[in-house]
Amino acid sequence: MTAKPTAARENILKVSDLAVSYGGIQALKSVSFEVKTGEIVSLIGANGAGKTTTLRAVSSLVPYTGTVEFKSKSGEVLNLATVPQHRIVKFGLAHSPEGRGVFPNLTVLENLQMGAFSRTDKEEIAQDLELCFASFPRLKERVKQKAGTLSGGEQQMLAIARALMAKPSLLLLDEPSLGLAPLIVAQIFEIIKKINSEGMTVLLVEQNARMALKISDRAYVVETGKISFSGRGKDLLGDPRIIDSYLGGH
Ligand code: ATP
Repeated sequence: MTAKPTAARENILKVSDLAVSYGGIQALKSVSFEVKTGEIVSLIGANGAGKTTTLRAVSSLVPYTGTVEFKSKSGEVLNLATVPQHRIVKFGLAHSPEGRGVFPNLTVLENLQMGAFSRTDKEEIAQDLELCFASFPRLKERVKQKAGTLSGGEQQMLAIARALMAKPSLLLLDEPSLGLAPLIVAQIFEIIKKINSEGMTVLLVEQNARMALKISDRAYVVETGKISFSGRGKDLLGDPRIIDSYLGGH
């Protein structure tokens, strides 16, 4: 991927000293990272390292200590701890969760309409639906089909498209490749690259480190609730620590 200049860009998200406990288990200890406007940033790491918990904390889906600062669509920097959870999407942060979370008994169209629930701009919603179908022609073909009857790859496309219908400025994607065949995984990563090239900032959680690093401007490695190191995606692809632990060795 062509390197995009990031030095001059502003933070859209700044996470500092994030800590989360589930009962007595401390899932995150002190996680700090940032995402700049226009970037794809990945969090990679082993099963149970804390990647999903990090995204859930950013979206205020779990209680946390530390701070999450988000630059809203209007340019105001918000401390997300002070924003009611259901209003976060309206400020420009959309979350496509692990396991996709589509509504299986609703049609593709109804799922997409649900994605726009926080919006009132009816005409623009209709236009965005058309744009969405242009980006995801498979969804257009299956518009009246119940989401639960779609293939895994199509459900993942629907989960991404539904999040985009909120018209966010930052898209959180949790394990979009989970459970999908390699060919479909490649398609999903192409879609993420395309969305980003059209201006969407993406924070991606992935166990498929190779694919994630290939499309990421920068990445952070999460190990047992902490960031152990970080770097540019293409540099990390050649880093022996990544090769040995996350890319199956030399
Ligand atoms: P995975 O790829 O398996 O989702 P992850 O890096 O996203 O891994 P998390 O799901 O964030 O990791 O889990 C971090 C730690 O928190 C793990 O030890 C996990 O067992 C624990 N954990 C996650 N969710 C809960 C929960 N709801 N209750 C208790 N412990 C949890």
